[in-house]
Amino acid sequence: MPTYSYQCQDCSKEFELFFYIRDYIESPKCCYCKSKNTTRAYNKDVLTQSASVRKADSELKTIGDIANRNRDRLSEDEKIALHNKHNEYKNETPKTELPKGMKRMKKQPKTKWY
Ligand SMILES: [Zn+2]
Repeated sequence: MPTYSYQCQDCSKEFELFFYIRDYIESPKCCYCKSKNTTRAYNKDVLTQSASVRKADSELKTIGDIANRNRDRLSEDEKIALHNKHNEYKNETPKTELPKGMKRMKKQPKTKWY
């Protein structure tokens, strides 16, 4: 279950709550003074887990946010597998026949820029 850090705007104390993302609340009651004037303390959460995973669906504003969240949900193995799958075509030789007199260019080694 993810941890959400909040800060009370009235007593300025910080507190953490645990709950599933579907139960996410924007401004929960302060644990100390019971004020509802609370905000997420994103800077705290970023230290422990990537910010995008911690965002509730309602906080995902752009397609980039969704992409980042989905990326952060993948394990390293899944990322490598996906990268290989998406780059497979680069190693295949094209099967289509070229017109007479034409030939394919040799693949150049990647240029390293220092
Ligand atoms: Zn408070």
